[in-house]
This record gives sequence, C-alpha cells and structure tokens, in this order.
Amino acid sequence: MLKDSAGRTISELTFITRLGILTNQMLNFERVKIEHEPPEVRMKSFEVEPLREYSDKEAYAEAGRCIGCNICTQSCPASLDIGGYIRSTALGSPADTVRIVFENLPFPAIIGRVCTHNCEDICVLYDTGGPIAIRHLKRYAADQFEDYSKILDVPKRNFINKKVAVIGGGPAGLTTAYYLAIQGIKVTLFESLPTLGGFMRVGIPRYRLPDEVIDKEINFILSLGVEARLNTKIGEDVKFSDLMDEYDAVFLGVGNHKPRMTGTPGSDVKGVIHATEFLKRANLGEKIKVGNNVVVIGGGFTANDASRVSIRLGAKNVCIMYRRREIDRPGYPSTNAEEEMEESVEEKVKYIWEVTPFEYVGEKGKVVGVRYWENEMVSEGHGRAKPVPQKDKVKFIEADLVIEATGQETDFSFMEAEYLKKLRLTPAGHIITNPQGMTSIPGLFSGGDSTNSARDLISAVRDADTAVIGILEYLNVMDQVADDRWIPYLDRWKKYAPSVVQR
Ligand SMILES: Cc1cc2nc3c(=O)[nH]c(=O)nc-3n(C[C@H](O)[C@H](O)[C@H](O)COP(=O)(O)OP(=O)(O)OC[C@H]3O[C@@H](n4cnc5c(N)ncnc54)[C@H](O)[C@@H]3O)c2cc1C
Ligand code: SF4
Repeated sequence: MLKDSAGRTISELTFITRLGILTNQMLNFERVKIEHEPPEVRMKSFEVEPLREYSDKEAYAEAGRCIGCNICTQSCPASLDIGGYIRSTALGSPADTVRIVFENLPFPAIIGRVCTHNCEDICVLYDTGGPIAIRHLKRYAADQFEDYSKILDVPKRNFINKKVAVIGGGPAGLTTAYYLAIQGIKVTLFESLPTLGGFMRVGIPRYRLPDEVIDKEINFILSLGVEARLNTKIGEDVKFSDLMDEYDAVFLGVGNHKPRMTGTPGSDVKGVIHATEFLKRANLGEKIKVGNNVVVIGGGFTANDASRVSIRLGAKNVCIMYRRREIDRPGYPSTNAEEEMEESVEEKVKYIWEVTPFEYVGEKGKVVGVRYWENEMVSEGHGRAKPVPQKDKVKFIEADLVIEATGQETDFSFMEAEYLKKLRLTPAGHIITNPQGMTSIPGLFSGGDSTNSARDLISAVRDADTAVIGILEYLNVMDQVADDRWIPYLDRWKKYAPSVVQR
C-alpha cells in the first residue's frame, strides 16, 4: 500500500488536504496581508525594509491557515520541515519554530527575509486565499530572539583531533562551519573580504537585509568556536596547496565573484561598472555618485537590486534594459520574481524590454548615454524565442552611470595548476561533486554558487548540509557524533513522499 513515511496512506493524506482546503474556502481564510512601507519613504533610505513584520496576532492567524500537509517541503532545496515550524508558530511557540529551522539551516532571520521561497509557489492553498506566507512567518519567529543561544541548547563539545579549512565566508562556508564545529571539528574559515557573509553582506542591499540581522546569525555561528581569518585571500595570502596539506579536509564556498562584462564598445569610459562591484561598494558604505540617469543592463534579480540602490543613492531616472520579453526574465514565473518587480515599479524603476545595447557613448572620457537597437523575438520552433536586433531602429538613452548586471563566474585563480587540472567542472564551469559533496579531488568538498546552478541562498545551504555529512564520513568520525539531532537532516521531503511500504 502507498504510504508516506509518517505512516499516512495516500487516501488519508488526500482527505486531510482536501478537508483543509475546503475549511479554508468555507471560512474564507484569506492570507493575512503583509503591509509594505510606502514607496516614497523606502526610496529615500537604506534603513527601511519594504515589508513590515507581522504582529503576534497576524502571525498566529496566518500560521493557523496551514493544514500541515507538508507538500511544500518537497520544493525546499534544504528540505526544511515547513509544516512543522508553521504549526509551532500557530501554537504560539516561535522558539520551537527556530529550533526546527536550525535542524538544516542556521539563518532563519536572513532566509526569512530574502529566500526565493519556491515553497510558496506550490503551497496547496495558492488558489484558496493565497499561499501561506512561509518566508514572512520564519522572519517573524526568528526576530523574536536577540540571542539564539538562549533557546538553542547546542551541546558543548571538546575539539576532537580533526581540523577542516573552509574557504569563503558566505552562506555555504558558514553553514559548513556551523555544523562541523558542533561536532567538535576545529574549523578555520578563510575570507578575502574584511567582513563575513559573502553575497548576503556585499550583494543583497541593506534595505532588504539589514546588517544587524546578518551579524546576529553569523555571531552565533562564530560563538561555537569557529575561527575566522578575514582579509585572507587564498592564492595570495595563503597557498591553497598548504591548506590541502595541513588540514584533514577542505570545503570550497568561494561563490561566483568574477564579473562577466559584455565588452560592449565604449565599456572603457568612466561610469561603466559591473553590478556586483557597484553593490559591494554601496554595501560597504561608500557614497557612490550615481548622477541623475542610471541605465542597468540585464533582467534578473541583481539588476533590480542595482536599480533600487541607485534610486536610494539619489538617481532620478533609472531604467533596466533587457534583451528579451518580460515573461522571459530570469526567475520568472515565480511569486518571488513578481514581488521583486512590483516593488521596483512602485519605486519608479522603468523597464525597457527587447533591446540590445550596442555602444556606450562617452564624452571627455565619461559615459553620457547608451545606443541600442530594438529586438524582434524570433521563434525557431524549438527552445526559447531568440532576440534578433533590428539594426535599422537605433535609439539613444542618456546615462550618467551604466551598470552591467550580466552575471559572474567562479574565479579559480587561487588554485595551483596541479590542482586545477584535477578539478572536474561542468561545461558551464560549475564544480562537479559526488552525492556526498566531494569534488574529484579527495578531501576537497564544495558547495554554493560555484557548484550548483540554482545560485540562491537556500541551495548554498543545502550543498553545505550535504558536505557536512560527507566530511564527517570522510574523516571517519560519524561514530563520534554526539547526537544526530545536530547534524543536518537531509532529504526530509522523502518522509512526506509516498513510497511502497514493504510488508
Ligand atoms: C545582488 C545579489 C542579490 C541576491 N539576492 C538574493 C536573494 O534575494 N535571495 C537568494 O536566495 N539569493 C540571492 N542572491 C544569491 C546568493 O547571495 C548566493 O546564491 C549565495 O550568497 C551563494 O553563497 P556562497 O556561499 O556559495 O557564495 P558567496 O555568498 O558568494 O560567498 C563566497 C565568499 O567567498 C569569498 N572568497 C572567494 N574566493 C576566495 C579566496 N580565494 N579566498 C578567500 N575567500 C574567498 C568571497 O569573498 C565571498 O565572501 C543574490 C546575489 C547577488 C549578487
Ligand atoms: S504551507 Fe501550504 S503546502 Fe506547506 S504544509 Fe502548509 S498548507 Fe501545506
């Protein structure tokens, strides 16, 4: 008979789900509205978060709509027990919510603000009052606590005789460090920047993710005895081969930090910059002069961030140029993409779809505008329609700053040639790992943007969870694990997926 491993038969599960949906429909349980700060207020400030926190009453009401089917867990890359933690919020216990989230993820307040939240797209209540506000409820629960050590009873362990080097202090590196440190592994984390967090800190703008929120979660990880060496670039300050020799295992969480520029003629004039460089400088507190007119090239989330940061830095006219149609933009269709664009439009960002910029026009060595062609979308019968520039339709738009949000890739220059030639990559340049997160080089594990193609926070965390178990097995210390509650719970979705139960 088909059952999920919680022991529910398919007909029981279907019954529970249908009953829940019906109850929500009959009682007209609409999603509790998430209030937004007015655009004219938030456009002037990096301090104002666009979404207002739920009150206790609102959080209980919203969490109370969830019917606990846990279908959403199947779409969460990190396999969080979503039904479980929404239930604890509904029962008035945000501390339990945080504890459940920490089983797989040490960033509830960060992910509660900026997760791509694919889980909401498949919530069974999507068409019945709206999907449960899973992300916002996680933020609510995490924000109730200043110091997680008061609610998380992390076991105190002596260091065992194993040491691991983690390269990169982004979500992948920090998650790996967190779960390994709990098990008594001596972790040293190497970060080239003067601050930890990776793109959480230097990519995502402060109005979406305040510094205090990042600090709270990173400080908790460091409090477990993780040693962080900032301003230390592997490949320059420390040799990669030395780490491979000196440590029992190495985890690579180096992300994608090499800008991919388009090379459009005129790119060498002053006022043309890559989005990640622009956002990094803005996030580290530089007051960048953006002028009145900013043109952002690219159609993804980074383009939205760069344009909204430009507005907060004083730009009057900001437009995003993308070569394809609105429906072709990266990340669409999803609630995440819709919400991001809605907020950008409210903040007066303009979009110019189906265009190809072909020249950045400079005067006296400084950019003054962009020449572009309009495109025609041509369908060749298979795959996506292709943008074909109509070269007889040349247009011009003024620009004091051009920001290219055209992607980035992994910079492998930190690795000596003898290692690089052994490291297997996909044709797209991602590091290939086995199911335990180990690369083609024994003892070298990897995860995050350099390794997966999803390139979001929750997937970086998922890779790290996998690698933690892989590293514990590789070091042959699984039998010394204090308590399996403190190693990541992988693939929980299988618990809720129907399987044939052997009798
Ligand atoms: C502008 C922007 C907005 C984003 N918004 C979202 C969002 O809203 N939601 C979401 O889920 N995802 C978002 N992302 C994606 C998300 O930030 C990444 O998927 C995630 O940070 C990847 O984690 P990571 O640990 O692999 O790498 P990163 O976060 O990039 O961290 C890698 C770290 O390694 C360090 N490093 C690299 N090389 C070396 C070396 N040789 N020596 C020492 N240190 C090194 C880097 O300095 C960096 O700190 C966004 C990304 C950007 C750029
Ligand atoms: S959030 Fe939606 S899909 Fe997930 S358990 Fe609740 S009702 Fe089911």
